[in-house]
Amino acid sequence: MNMPIVLESTLCCPHCGFQSVWHMPENACMWRVQCQACHRDIVTLPGKCCVFCSYGSHPSPPIQRAQHEGKGGCGCCSES
Ligand SMILES: [Zn+2]
Repeated sequence: MNMPIVLESTLCCPHCGFQSVWHMPENACMWRVQCQACHRDIVTLPGKCCVFCSYGSHPSPPIQRAQHEGKGGCGCCSES
């Protein structure tokens, strides 16, 4: 049985605090997006694999899947 994967995440911009809802690609991590309000880049924090893990209300789908399976990391990027 598959656990539900959330495909939308609310990102909080670290520059201006603007919150926007993003649709996440199901099998990829996004490590840089542009804030819709201040148009500055929102980049992934060191040690995180994507912006949604860094600033989102939900981590990216590969991470959610890994969490459901009890694994760390997301499979699309190496994590010790
Ligand atoms: Zn912003």
